[in-house]
Amino acid sequence: ATISVMDQKTVRPPHVLIFPLPLQGPVNSTIKLAELLCLSGLHITLLLTDHIHTKLLKYSNIQSRFSSYPGFHLETIPDGLPEDHPRSIDRFIEVLESLKTKSSILFKDLMTTDSRRPVTCIIADGTMGFTCDVANEIGIPIMYIRTISACCLWVFFCFPNLIESRELPFSGNDLDTPIKSIPGMEEFLRRRDLPLFCRFNLSDPNIKTYLSEGTENPRAHGLILNTFDDLEGPIVSQIRTFCPNLYTIGPLHAHLKLNLESFSSSPPSSNSLWKEDMSCIPWLDSQPSKSVLYVSFGSLAVMSKELWYGLVNSGSRFLWVIRRHSVLSEIIETPPELSKGTEERGCIVEWAPQEKVLAHGGVGGFLTHSGWNATLESVVEGVPMICWPYFLDQQVNSRFVGEVWKLGLDMKDTCDRVIVEKMVRELMEERKEEFRKSADEMAKLAKQCFMVGGSSYCNLQRLINDIKAM
Ligand code: UDP
Repeated sequence: ATISVMDQKTVRPPHVLIFPLPLQGPVNSTIKLAELLCLSGLHITLLLTDHIHTKLLKYSNIQSRFSSYPGFHLETIPDGLPEDHPRSIDRFIEVLESLKTKSSILFKDLMTTDSRRPVTCIIADGTMGFTCDVANEIGIPIMYIRTISACCLWVFFCFPNLIESRELPFSGNDLDTPIKSIPGMEEFLRRRDLPLFCRFNLSDPNIKTYLSEGTENPRAHGLILNTFDDLEGPIVSQIRTFCPNLYTIGPLHAHLKLNLESFSSSPPSSNSLWKEDMSCIPWLDSQPSKSVLYVSFGSLAVMSKELWYGLVNSGSRFLWVIRRHSVLSEIIETPPELSKGTEERGCIVEWAPQEKVLAHGGVGGFLTHSGWNATLESVVEGVPMICWPYFLDQQVNSRFVGEVWKLGLDMKDTCDRVIVEKMVRELMEERKEEFRKSADEMAKLAKQCFMVGGSSYCNLQRLINDIKAM
């Protein structure tokens, strides 16, 4: 029996096909998982949609980055949409639908045509349920990865409870009404902390998409989460009641960075879909320690012009990412207040090397949309946050930042210039010691979790062993 197992292993070395959701946040963290698995010697095929692949080739060093891994291979498939489709977040359901109806055949072909390198395990984003159908049909084990927070994933799992208890849908505008039917969050969750689309009606396609999470995710052999137990342990335990085989291996970006250091390898690729403007780093070098507020709303959120006024009036130094077309109903132009004497204390770029910025000693706070990558990147570097969530998991994340982890202030739903100014002063001046203390403590825990014996370290080893045994 021993010989036949060995034979089997020589014929089929572990080969994982990894398929991220085609959006900046998930692409970024899932490629980091791909590299972590490459480092452990597994053969990896990274599958990207043509659209993401084209952007990555243009702005990131992914090609040269992975060329040092002999077992690495890149594949692409079309997402089935016309070239000029915006693939914007408000039409992302169309991307998902098209992938399901038009690309799943190609996805299946990919796995069945190359008999020299048979895929022994699939890791796909759990938002793309069709990947599990294909995997089951061809008999290849599949794991899901979710790149949102565990706390928001748990809210999605509980949608049926919310509907049954008539907490959803809600009408009226009392957004401070407590939410009681999400186990583990009874003490602090309010209507306004639910994903934004919950404020609209139940026929919203987003609600339909996320209503079946509790039945969809447990279909896979395992669920990989980009979080760590010291941050979201109690919520992860709740999810485990649905998906017993859970791997919390985050924060992925920092986990990878540490592993690369131990191989004396260069730092990870940026995985950026836009060109990073490095000029902000020398600018940061010239600023006093922890004096700069970094302002960025990720790749999808748009922002209000009130933020501009609030920030300028606060008198704080700032580094601001203003993506093209990301300001609500305004054409981008520098507000006059910015040009009047603020050049010295302000720097504006279209896209920043965010991980480097947050790790820079000049940065003392982060005004963020509370995207999950942004939140984890901030947690690891011990940077306190002001949260101005936009949609999806961000409303839940910002509640946890403000109320549970005490890592900053949740500005949710209030964004006039007076409040912005007040919160910036609070975070950067009046309460800075208090926030820095809790941010430092959490950063320490984040760094320990992927050291030998830490929770994310052990879970990654278990994941690798389980993949090898498949
Ligand atoms: N990011 C970046 N430069 C920027 C803004 C964002 O490199 O100027 C990266 C950031 O580090 C993060 C990702 O883009 O890894 C955004 O993911 P997140 O989950 O924070 O937000 P999303 O864009 O999905 O809303």
